[in-house]
Amino acid sequence: MEKMRAMVLRHFMAIEKVPLKSENVNVPKQKENEVLVKVDACGVCRTDLHVIEGELAKRKLPVIPGHQIIGRIVSAGKGVKGRRVRESVGITWINSTCGKCRYCKVGMENLCESPKLTGYSTDGGYAEYVTVREDYAFPLPKGFDAVHAAPLFCAGIIGYRALKLAEVGRGKTLAIFGFGSSARIIIQIARYLDSEVIVFTRDMKHRHAARQMGAKWAGNLHGSPKIIADSAIITAPVGWLVPKALDTVRKGGKVVIEDIYMSKIPKIDYNKQLYYEKSVMSVTNYTKKDIREFLSLAAKIPIRTEIQEFMLEEANEALAMLKHDKLHGSAVLRI
Ligand SMILES: [Zn+2]
Ligand SMILES: [Zn+2]
Repeated sequence: MEKMRAMVLRHFMAIEKVPLKSENVNVPKQKENEVLVKVDACGVCRTDLHVIEGELAKRKLPVIPGHQIIGRIVSAGKGVKGRRVRESVGITWINSTCGKCRYCKVGMENLCESPKLTGYSTDGGYAEYVTVREDYAFPLPKGFDAVHAAPLFCAGIIGYRALKLAEVGRGKTLAIFGFGSSARIIIQIARYLDSEVIVFTRDMKHRHAARQMGAKWAGNLHGSPKIIADSAIITAPVGWLVPKALDTVRKGGKVVIEDIYMSKIPKIDYNKQLYYEKSVMSVTNYTKKDIREFLSLAAKIPIRTEIQEFMLEEANEALAMLKHDKLHGSAVLRI
């Protein structure tokens, strides 16, 4: 059996305790409708942190995390028709969907009843090789190398779905809460679609970056932009941002939460904060249609991603820096 290097999680624990260990494990074997991908780069996402620290419902253990994967197809199962060997592809959080449930049948596979999730219920990209069902391996957009493409495949695609749900567009104002990896992609698309953007973030260098990227206003959470937003996207897993975001949007405004996990939301005052047809909704994954639209937009705009590179063996450090907000750009492991 051929071996590969991988960062393996055997026990859920805080990232400061260095839970990922470098191991030599068997190279996975693709099933009939799957491809085997040699990984070039894998982005580091806050969801990996939630998986490792045991904040999500516990699934596979031991597990190899990582779900913003860029690589080349090195072999394909017998049933593979749409992809070919040597093609460069990106892999995301969804590794496969059932195709049979009520959601899959109507093109809402983001809500599939039994999806396989990369780096969570199936091994992910903190490794030299990974497998994925062929219809969840997406050709890279033109103009991107592996490392710079990695953040598109989670931070980017989730941000794109959040933007669709927030109904941004010409003449609209969008408020973004937090200014990490996903927010930096969201602002580029919102500006491209002619929306005004205001950004709330506690960090001064993030506020500076937001203004440079075209935000009309950027301030901390106590600041008042004197601009009422049409919708808001919350990109940080912080529950008390929800009432704050509701205060920021006008009548009929939408507040979209793009995190898979969030700390407790404090009480909302119905009369003051939710009445007038305001709404709060979450983003759960994305559809294949979302991905196709987003990747073509990423090439067209073109979206720029700022990345900070790490080696595979530095995954624990990269995740700790993400947790403590010490990164400049998106962390990506070069493999
Ligand atoms: Zn992610
Ligand atoms: Zn399904």
